Amino acid sequence: MLNRSKQKTKLIERAPEERRKDFLEVNDGYSLTEAVSEADRCLQCRNAPCIQGCPVAIDIPGFIKAIQEKDLERSWEILYATNRLPAICGRVCPQEKQCEERCTVGKIKNSEPVAIGRLERFTADWKRKAGFSPAPVELTHTERIAVVGSGPAGLTVAAELAQNGYAVEVFEALHEPGGVLTYGIPEFRLPKEIVRAEIEGIRKLDVVLRTDFIVGKTIFFEEIRKRYQAIFLGIGAGAPKFMNVPGTNLNGVFSASEFLTRVNLMKAFRFPHADTPITIGKNVIVVGGGNVAMDAARSALRLGAQTVKIVYRRTETELPARWEEYHHAMEEGVEFLWLSNPIAYLPDSDSRVKGARIQKMGLGEPDASGRRKPVPLPGVEETLECDCVIEAIGQSAHRILSEGFKEVRLNRWGYIEVDPETLMTSVPGVFAGGDIVTGAATVIEAMGAGKTAAKGIMNYLRTIG
Ligand code: FAD
Ligand code: SF4
Ligand code: SF4
Repeated sequence: MLNRSKQKTKLIERAPEERRKDFLEVNDGYSLTEAVSEADRCLQCRNAPCIQGCPVAIDIPGFIKAIQEKDLERSWEILYATNRLPAICGRVCPQEKQCEERCTVGKIKNSEPVAIGRLERFTADWKRKAGFSPAPVELTHTERIAVVGSGPAGLTVAAELAQNGYAVEVFEALHEPGGVLTYGIPEFRLPKEIVRAEIEGIRKLDVVLRTDFIVGKTIFFEEIRKRYQAIFLGIGAGAPKFMNVPGTNLNGVFSASEFLTRVNLMKAFRFPHADTPITIGKNVIVVGGGNVAMDAARSALRLGAQTVKIVYRRTETELPARWEEYHHAMEEGVEFLWLSNPIAYLPDSDSRVKGARIQKMGLGEPDASGRRKPVPLPGVEETLECDCVIEAIGQSAHRILSEGFKEVRLNRWGYIEVDPETLMTSVPGVFAGGDIVTGAATVIEAMGAGKTAAKGIMNYLRTIG
C-alpha cells in the first residue's frame, strides 16, 4: 500500500550525549516494519531516475519492491547482483547528492526522497545476519589479473572479474584490506565488522588477497607485469595535504590521515587494550569542512576532548560533508566557526601547540567548483586557545607509492592518466581507477570506476587472446 508521507520514515538514533562517549553506531538501522513503511513511499517509477544517480546502476525500484513484498531474499539478490559492498554503501554513500537527489518523490513540494541508502543498508544487514556465503565461481579463463590496492575500486574490479571466471590476486600494502573503508572512516560510522564481512564475500569468489604487500617495493612492477596478463591500479590518494602555516611542525598538530589511521587501523581508541596510544588534547581544533573533518572532530570528542571546534573558511551552505554527518557532529557538541582560516599555530615553551591565529574571511565570486570563493578580511583576526590541531584539508596522490609505477603516465598533480572509456593507462594492459585517477572522491565513484575498468580489462584480454 502506498505510503503518502512526505517525510522519510524516522530512524531512531542513540542520544547524542550517550553516543559521543563511545565508538558504536549512531543507530541500528530500520526494523522490518519501518523498512516496509519506507519502501511503500516508492512510486516504482517506470523511468526510475534514481538509477541514473547511482554510479553502479543498482535496480533501485526492483530491490525496494521486494522489500514492499517482504521478500528480503529477492531484495538481496537484486542488490548484490550489481553492488558487492551494499552494507557499506548504504551507510556512507552521499545519497543526497546521488540516487536520492534524482528521486521523483523528492521533487514533490516539501517532500523528502525515498530513503534509498537506509533501505539498502536494511537489506544488506538482514542478509549478513541471516548468513551469507556466495559460491565460488568456476574459472573459465586462463589469464591472471593483479589488482593493486584493496579499497572500494580494487575490491570491485576483483569481484567483477572473479564473477566472470578470471583468476584475480589483490595486493594490499597495509595489514588489513579495505583501503579508506578500513583505516579512514571511523567505527561509529562504518563498523569494521561490516567491512570485513563484505570483503569476505569477495574473498569467497576465490579472489586471493595478499596483505602487507607493497607493489613497487615488496615486488617490482616489472615483475607483476611479467606474471599477470592485466593489472589494475587502485592505490588511492591518501597523502595528507598541509596548510603549511607557521607552527605546522609543533607537537599536537596532526594531519587527519595520521590521526584517523591511528584511531582506526591501529585501534588507538582501545588503548591500553591495543598498543597504539594517541594523545588528544582538551581543546581541539579541526581545520576543514568535508567528511574527513567531521570524522576527525567526532573521533576527538569520543577520545575525551572537552571542546572540539571545526574551523571552516566558507559557510554552512558550501560545506562539502554529508549533511547527516554535519548534523550528527552538531548534535554531539562539535562547534563550528564559519568563515575562518588558520594563519599560524602558536607554541608553548615545550614546542607544543597552545593556540591558533585565525583569519576571518568573506565570500567572493564563485570559483571553479561553483562555490563562492573565500577571501581574507584584512586585519580581522582572532586567537583560539587549543592544545591539538587536526588538519583535514584534503589528500593528494602518494608520490612515493606511485613512483613504483614509473612507466605509467601521470598528470601534473600526480594522478594517473587513463582513457575515460576503458580506464587503460598509457601502458597497454595496465588500468587504473578510483581516487588515484579522479583525486579524492567517494566510495561509490571508486566502485563505479572499478566496474568500468573490469569491462575494459575483459575487452582487452579478449583482443590480445
Ligand atoms: P583507497 O580506499 O584509498 O584504497 C587504496 C588502497 O591501496 C589502500 O588500502 C592502500 O594501502 C593501497 N595501496 C596504495 N599503494 C599500494 C601499493 N603500491 N601496493 C599495494 N597496495 C597499495 N567517501 C564516501 O563516499 N562517503 C564517506 O562518508 C566518506 N568518508 C570518508 C572519510 C575519510 C576519513 C576519508 C579519508 C575518505 C572518505 N571518503 C568517503 C572517500 C572514500 O573513502 C574514497 O573516495 C575511496 O575510499 C577511494 O577508494 P580507492 O579504492 O580509490 O582508494
Ligand atoms: Fe544510492 Fe549509493 Fe546505493 Fe547507489 S550504492 S543506490 S548511489 S546509496
Ligand atoms: Fe522509487 Fe524514487 Fe526511484 Fe521513483 S525515483 S522508483 S520513487 S526510488
